[in-house]
Amino acid sequence: MALQIDLDEQVETPQLSLIMDELEAGEAAVELDDKAPQEVIAWAIDRFGSELAICSSFQAEGCLLIDMAWRIDPKIRVFTIDTGRQPQATYDLIDKVRERYEIKTEVFLPDTKVVEQMVTKHGNNLFYGDVNKRLLCCQVRKVLPLRRALMNYSAWMTGLRRDQWATRSNIRKIEIDHDHGGIVKLAPLADWTEQEVWDYLRANDVPYNALYDQGYKSIGCEPCTRAVGEGQDPRGGRWWWETGAPKECGMHCAIETGGFEHELAALLGRNGDGHTNGGG
Ligand code: SF4
Repeated sequence: MALQIDLDEQVETPQLSLIMDELEAGEAAVELDDKAPQEVIAWAIDRFGSELAICSSFQAEGCLLIDMAWRIDPKIRVFTIDTGRQPQATYDLIDKVRERYEIKTEVFLPDTKVVEQMVTKHGNNLFYGDVNKRLLCCQVRKVLPLRRALMNYSAWMTGLRRDQWATRSNIRKIEIDHDHGGIVKLAPLADWTEQEVWDYLRANDVPYNALYDQGYKSIGCEPCTRAVGEGQDPRGGRWWWETGAPKECGMHCAIETGGFEHELAALLGRNGDGHTNGGG
């Protein structure tokens, strides 16, 4: 039976009121580039109000952003993508943040039917040993729920930093997100280092994921993340079995390998010509 999901429908421009155009975003990017994270966050809260949300996977940077933004506006909205495969420590932290800041994190889950079809066909641990199946899983469990989540906001704020990985070296503190209907994407920590992040967390007693104390440096889904040794690349513990593949899931940059897209289209009930199979 075909599934009632359509990728194109999910990237339409949201019906929100505070969208920016390319010119305004470009001017703001220049103005904000050398500003401290707090100034960028304050600017965004003023500009987008309740149509702004922090997207957090509850890594160190996401927790920092929540703390900084909450100090400026305790009503700051926060959302997360729950892939269904996250470590218990991450769920514990979400609840801890909820209690500490009285923030009700908005949680977005993958489409049940698509996950059911994917794991029935390829197994629960399809990601090991095949990059395209890993990317397929990331699409189903992360990228598609993110697209649905972003229909609710005019702007989203992330904890991305330029020195995390080569694909992130050119991110701007504010840009138009063409992958998500032209809403605004902010990265107030773009020019911060890992050391600055941890200095802030400790100075402000910000809750953080307990896995960091076990040698983890970057934390995603439980089966796809492991601790790294001292001095090793912080993202080296993500999809550690892969060689030559991007340490990205597709949430922050489009990944087109020509390998997983056909399978994704099939799971979504679409033909190769882009049309949905059958009815309902
Ligand atoms: S990180 Fe692993 S479990 Fe999580 S969505 Fe990607 S492939 Fe699936």
